[in-house]
Amino acid sequence: CKNYKPTGPIETTMCDYETVEGVTEELFSNLSELVRLPFFRYFQVDLYRECPFWPDDGLCSDPGCAITTVDESDVPEKWRAATLSKLESSSIEKRHELPGCYYRDSDFCFLDDNTEGDYYDLRLVPERYTGYSGFGANRVWRSIYEENCFGLSELNLMSGKSPAVVSLPDSMSEVFDEDGIDHNQHCLEKRVYYKVISGLHASISTHLCFEHLNQTTGQWGPNLECFIDRVASHPERVQYIYFNAVLLLRAVSRLGPYLSAYDYCSTGNHEDDRETLANLSKVVSIAQDVGKFDETILFRGENANVLKEEFKTHFRNVTRIMDCVGCDKCRLWGKVQTTGLATAMKILFEMDEKALDPYSNANLLQRSEVVALMNTLYRFIESLDSVNKFRTMWSEMNSTD
Ligand code: FAD
Repeated sequence: CKNYKPTGPIETTMCDYETVEGVTEELFSNLSELVRLPFFRYFQVDLYRECPFWPDDGLCSDPGCAITTVDESDVPEKWRAATLSKLESSSIEKRHELPGCYYRDSDFCFLDDNTEGDYYDLRLVPERYTGYSGFGANRVWRSIYEENCFGLSELNLMSGKSPAVVSLPDSMSEVFDEDGIDHNQHCLEKRVYYKVISGLHASISTHLCFEHLNQTTGQWGPNLECFIDRVASHPERVQYIYFNAVLLLRAVSRLGPYLSAYDYCSTGNHEDDRETLANLSKVVSIAQDVGKFDETILFRGENANVLKEEFKTHFRNVTRIMDCVGCDKCRLWGKVQTTGLATAMKILFEMDEKALDPYSNANLLQRSEVVALMNTLYRFIESLDSVNKFRTMWSEMNSTD
């Protein structure tokens, strides 16, 4: 077991590991400031939708899974249900609806209706060890990986077909080769899908290992063994965290003008609004230097549109699978991050420069998409910061041996 640190180009991007390393500290600091501000810390979501794929197998009873909502009177008036429902009725677009949630044709996720769900203060809900594990957690991951099966253009979800495979292998490598690729049927898009999911899984594992509860002492702290076991002993998992970071940075970079023109001035506190814009512009500026993901090489060729529709359908299913996560805290962060990744992919794979124009297409993104995108980037950059800290712990431990 080596203290693994990837070097050189990051596949499917025009960026290398060293460049991302070079900005991680500054980006982490700017994003930490940004996500504590009111616009980015309140996230509205319906956490209690029924799991559409299998009967409820009981919720996590560990106190670590529990969560509290924010009273609507504590959030700025502009975001409250009554105000939003007035806006909604005047701007109905082409939508495909399921009860309470919907997607537009260009979306990679199901979104909640603005008027449904509760507000959560993400600052008060750290993504860390909760104790959620076992059959329920494994089944969710397994189902998410099973969505990486391209070639059938049926719309599983809309036809009500479950994507879940109930028997579980001991490891995902029984589904995929060691490098995470099913070589019988692989294509670039399929590999990208796998990297996105495996990178998300690795990032969540990094968080729960970094803020881990020692069951014997009751103390919270980094657990190096947990990190080595779940992430570092599979070097490609570490690489996919970088991959996701570059994908998200590219989306933020392309969205720069849109984000700069977005209306953050709804909190009533001018100092917060000024800080929000200042921090955001620092993040956008770094994203423009480093976010060199090359989306133009994807979805080309003969069946590009069919493949893209399948990709979208599968990722939308992933956002619905989040309703099957049996731990409130994990479900909240699962929803934030799948929405954030879906938003990034919509920007990269669906939008041309005209569509990104903030003046001709001001309603391109819902507030929850902007909040999810920036918080998801924060999650991945924080993971990279934790990976660095684990590397230091590993070096210190081995130098004293
Ligand atoms: P799991 O992490 O459940 O993995 C299952 C199998 O997948 C492993 O045996 C391995 O073969 C394979 N695998 C693992 N990582 C990867 C990877 N990166 N790429 C490819 N294959 C992989 N728990 C918390 O404590 N806090 C949280 O905030 C939290 N959030 C969660 C959010 C979601 C959406 C889900 C589904 C689960 C969450 N969990 C959380 C649970 C956590 O992810 C694990 O499922 C749990 O800790 C049990 O871990 P495990 O060792 O059984 O392996």
